[in-house]
Formats: sequence, C-alpha cells, structure tokens
Amino acid sequence: MKKAYNVEILSVGTEILLGHTTNTDARDISLMLSELGINVKYHTVVGDNPQRLADCIEIARKRADIIISTGGLGPTCDDLTKQILAKSFGLELEMHEDEKACLYDYLTNRGYSKEMTENNLKQAMLPVGCTVFHNDWGTAPGCAFTGDDGTIVIMLPGPPKECNAMFRACVMPYLRSLSDEQIVSHAIHVFGMSESAMDQIFRDEMNAMTNPTMAPYAKEGDCLLQVTAKAESVEKAEEMMKPVIEHVKDVLGDIIFGIDVDTVEDSVMRLLKEKKMTFAAAESCTGGELAKRFTDIPGASEFFLGGVTTYTNEAKIKLLGIAPKLIEEKTAVSYEVAKQMAERVRALLGADMGIGVTGLAGPDGDGVHEVGTVFVSLATKDGTYVRELHVGDRRTRSYVRRVSGNYIFDMMRRYLQGLEVIKEN
Ligand code: ATP
Ligand code: MG
Repeated sequence: MKKAYNVEILSVGTEILLGHTTNTDARDISLMLSELGINVKYHTVVGDNPQRLADCIEIARKRADIIISTGGLGPTCDDLTKQILAKSFGLELEMHEDEKACLYDYLTNRGYSKEMTENNLKQAMLPVGCTVFHNDWGTAPGCAFTGDDGTIVIMLPGPPKECNAMFRACVMPYLRSLSDEQIVSHAIHVFGMSESAMDQIFRDEMNAMTNPTMAPYAKEGDCLLQVTAKAESVEKAEEMMKPVIEHVKDVLGDIIFGIDVDTVEDSVMRLLKEKKMTFAAAESCTGGELAKRFTDIPGASEFFLGGVTTYTNEAKIKLLGIAPKLIEEKTAVSYEVAKQMAERVRALLGADMGIGVTGLAGPDGDGVHEVGTVFVSLATKDGTYVRELHVGDRRTRSYVRRVSGNYIFDMMRRYLQGLEVIKEN
C-alpha cells in the first residue's frame, strides 16, 4: 500500500445493539484485514435508524480512510445502509441491470416468484459509478466507491456466510488492487504460552520492526504471532519474512503447533493423515465437544473412529467398564479414571490412540476439586500419558471445555511429532 490505511467497520443492525446477534462480521473482517496488514481503528455498531446511521458516517469519514459497512443491504424497509451512505457522499442510486437480471434468475429459479417485487428490485439499486461485488452466496450485492474526500466506502451484506465469503472473494482483491505493493502474511500458531509472555519475549524486536512487522494475538486458549511483509512481489515479501519466521521458530521451538493452520485439531488431522493413524475419545466434562471439534474438519472419518460421552459415573462403568471401586476410591475426576477412560476407549474401538477427559467444568464445585480441575489422558502403544490441569480461575464452562480440548489435542500433536508428550508451562 502507498499509505497505511485506517479502517472503521460500521455494523448496522438493531439486533446487534440489543444483543440478539453477536457482531461476528466485524470480528471476521478484522481478522481478514490483519492478513492484509491493514489496521482496524474502530468498530462501530448502530441501529437501523437513518439519522443515527448518518451521524456515524460523518464521524467515521473524519477518522478513517476506509469505511466498511455490514448489514442493511436487503430488500426490507429497515435495510437502509446503501441509501444513507450514498446520500452522505452525495451519490445517487441507479438500477444495475446485470444485478437485476441475476436477482431475477435467482428468485425465479428458486420458485419464489415470477415477478420481481419493488423491494427486491431495491437490492439492484447501487451508487452511481461504484464497483459492484456480486453476491454468489445470497441476493444482495455489495459494492465499493471512493468519495470526493478520498474516503473509500465498502458495503457488505449482514448474513455472516455472505459477508465472510464476499470479503475473501471480492474485497480482499479490491483492497490489494489499491496498491502497487503486495502484502503477504503468515500466522505462527503457538500453544502453551500466553500472548503477554510472547509479547515480552519479542517486544523490543517488534517495536523495532517496520517491514516485515510482527504482532501477537490471543485466541481462546492458544495464541499466534502474525508476521506481515509488504513488497513489490509476493516472492519478495516471502523472502523478507523467511528469516523472521526462522528466528521465531528458533526461539519458541516445539510449542509452535503450525503455521497458517486454523486450530490445533487441524494440525492433529494433518499429522494423523501423514502417519495413517486413528484415535477414539472418551469424554466426560467436554460433553462430546472433542468429537464435534474434530468431526468439523472435512475428512475426519478416516482418522476419528468414534467416541463416547460418559458423563455420569454409571456411564463410565457401563460403557467403558471402569470399576465402581476405582471411582469410589479416587472419584470420577482423577488421574486413574482419566487414564482408564483413554485406555478403554482405545481398546474398545481398536484405535491407535485413545483420549480421555474428565474434570469439573463448573460453575458449581463438587466439594473435593476446585472448578477447572481437569485430567486429560492419551493412551498409545507406548503407554498412557495423563496430565492434570487447573484451567478454572473464574472462567466459564465453555472456556474450561475449550481449553481442556486444546491441551489434549496438543498432547496428540506432540506424540505424533515424536516430542515429549507432556510439556509443563
Ligand atoms: P438480508 O438480505 O438477509 O436482509 P442484510 O444485508 O440486509 O441482509 P441484515 O438484514 O442487517 O443484513 O441482517 C441479516 C442477518 O445477518 C440477520 O440474521 C443478522 O442477525 C445477521 N447479521 C447482520 N449483521 C451482522 C453482524 N455484524 N454480525 C453477525 N451477524 C449479522
Ligand atoms: Mg436485511
């Protein structure tokens, strides 16, 4: 980019203000902008109200170079983003014939109607002279224009599936085309170190860097370092990042679970594929979440044989054959029970690896363990590894489950890579 652009994301929708809808569009756009090395300076949310929307636009154009709006492009009367944005920048709306024809095809092919209603037509009305982003995932097209004052305005529909896909397919190339330079970025994913610890290690270097740049981001239970370079070609940008990435690898070592992977389970999937190995899961406090997370990845059936959710003691006894006496003596949240859960499910399904998770997700305690005490175990042909975790710390149930899952997936990753399976941090 010739200059460093600042972005304001303007999310339009009363349902977001009321808390009925979480503003995932702003989050997802921000993450994708970070891949381009573009700074997001403000997230604004405004209801479906013409005056307040116009006020927000006035504020945004003063403090941002690019305004990206989401929502309010549909056919209903509360969808007014396009009208108000165009008006604010002194532009008329005009019928876009190609989009009108596409809309007609879409609606008639789906058997909605033989005729276009007035409000459907409204979706094909776009600011004069704008760049149109055709919507292959829904009906309302998006668009972009540059205002007289140089402000770049980009509009996207609200439904997350449409907004995300259009941002990747249309807006990212559009933003890249604004510049002679190529921006390339890689995410180094780390498990077992906090964002602040990473920040401390690399702070001086990061502050001294201008191109490439490096920044840490926290995700729930793991974190990443984003390395971004700008150059006249992709190859040159890659070349500039290479020594930086090698340096980070040297410093952080085997706590890096992947580069440009989505999650730790994705890296496990890649390794299972490579090694042609399978696993099975016995879950208590995660309630089936590990199976869900893994089976969310396409192609999981080759590697994940199945699992059981043994939530109660009875289920642990009946389904996994764990001795009642063991549970009585050690309690269900124990090293021994976790170990047996992993070993039993591995044997029952004939898998290369078995995993077991038992713990206390809270918020209520059991009088014995503190909330967030979780035992995760991994049974393999080389033995069973059990780790005791304390991930409570006033966190929510979903956090405890998510993080416990990350720990066990990371233990699998480490085993598959031939590393020390349990690395205390
Ligand atoms: P449509 O053609 O579906 O009317 P639209 O562009 O007019 O699309 P909205 O009517 O504002 O968008 O919202 C449509 C749907 O998308 C709603 O279910 C809403 O909850 C969801 N949505 C809108 N904005 C966001 C957002 N910022 N983050 C996540 N979901 C959103
Ligand atoms: Mg709408």
